[in-house]
Amino acid sequence: MKVKKNDTVLVITGKDAGKTGKVIFAAPADNKVKVDGVNVQKRSKKARSANETSAIVPQVGAIDASNVMVVCPKCDKATRVAYKIVDGKKVRVCKKCGAALDSAPEAKKAAKKAGEEKTAAKKTAKKAADADAPKKRTKKTEKVEETAEKAE
Ligand SMILES: [Zn+2]
Repeated sequence: MKVKKNDTVLVITGKDAGKTGKVIFAAPADNKVKVDGVNVQKRSKKARSANETSAIVPQVGAIDASNVMVVCPKCDKATRVAYKIVDGKKVRVCKKCGAALDSAPEAKKAAKKAGEEKTAAKKTAKKAADADAPKKRTKKTEKVEETAEKAE
């Protein structure tokens, strides 16, 4: 399936044709997607306990993935999806401008990396602080060190 969760898509057929929205749910096995604000159905929700009230709840229904087109985040046009191999991985690209459509995982990776670097920086800072701190040794540790020296 060419459409993935968090894609912005344009609905091309059905009662919501022409609407754009974000994919909030994707079921590749069924070739179905749920698009925010598209194919909104009314579901009657019956109160099952005294604390609940019966209500008509709007719910997004699944639509066929073939009824939507991915909207390219770069050129802002509904486009067909092409595939490109980058670093041995298949990535989706815009057929019109060639921009990668899967920037989200990369951004996540970058964010994760940045987080790791932050942690590393923190550790380095802590080490430096430890080195700067005046050496306060308790008698106990000195004793242990002496014993260790003798043992050598
Ligand atoms: Zn594009």
